[in-house]
Amino acid sequence: MLQNIRVVLVNTSHPGNIGGVARAMKNMGLSRLVLVDPEVFPSDEASARASGASDLLERAQVVGTLEEALVGCTVALGTSARDRQIPWPLLDPRECASVCLDQVGAGGEVALVFGREYAGLTNAELQRCHYHVHIPSDPEFSSLNLATAVQVLTYEVRMAWLAAQGKPTKMEKLEAAAEQNAQPVTLDELELFYGHLESTLVQVGFLDPQRPRHLMSRLRRLFGRSAISKLEMNILRGILTETQKAVRGEPHKRREL
Ligand code: SAH
Repeated sequence: MLQNIRVVLVNTSHPGNIGGVARAMKNMGLSRLVLVDPEVFPSDEASARASGASDLLERAQVVGTLEEALVGCTVALGTSARDRQIPWPLLDPRECASVCLDQVGAGGEVALVFGREYAGLTNAELQRCHYHVHIPSDPEFSSLNLATAVQVLTYEVRMAWLAAQGKPTKMEKLEAAAEQNAQPVTLDELELFYGHLESTLVQVGFLDPQRPRHLMSRLRRLFGRSAISKLEMNILRGILTETQKAVRGEPHKRREL
């Protein structure tokens, strides 16, 4: 699906930006880069800025005109840093992503078209596009770096694609670990903790087993109110273990939580 969304860069002057665009695209799962009459390409600077995405540069298609870049496309979206005088359907990046996904979902091919660093796209080039896309930046300073603008749009495309695929937007492993840690402790784990707490309090001399008074029942009431999670329980147990070691004069070991 994402392979049917191409990024078209018109007349880019800085090779570093071409590399930055390749990297931005690959991060978001896009692979098809088309360069219209780039000033310098290929170049070491582009490869350096692409980092691990130089495969996109190697496969990039270099053409002479925007028309050639758009061959086979069913929809073209042209980006602009400025408000244009020409009245045209204007989208924000999220709406742009939704048009992209609808199009490729229906078997079409889409082009996201980006302009020159110094002058953007000409009106004639913008009029070749079905929609215009503007990133709602501060009007006082509206122009983003080319690769940054590509990153914003391709990020929205990725978010829309993940939603369309029913894929999570959070890293599953971390989420699972976080969920596990947030689980409430069970009563049996709590009992083990109370046992550990009591023996530690005896060891440090805070609790006299001959005259325990109501200390443990008061502490039970305190911890019982706290809805302790598994992670919090691990922390408490870790503190008790280290306290016991300190009482026994054993060396302290830094714990990773
Ligand atoms: N001086 C140019 C700025 C070009 S920035 C101008 O005024 O048009 C280079 C390219 O990055 C733009 O052609 C566009 O493709 C993209 N870009 C930069 N800022 C953008 C924004 N706020 N919204 C959409 N695209 C933007």
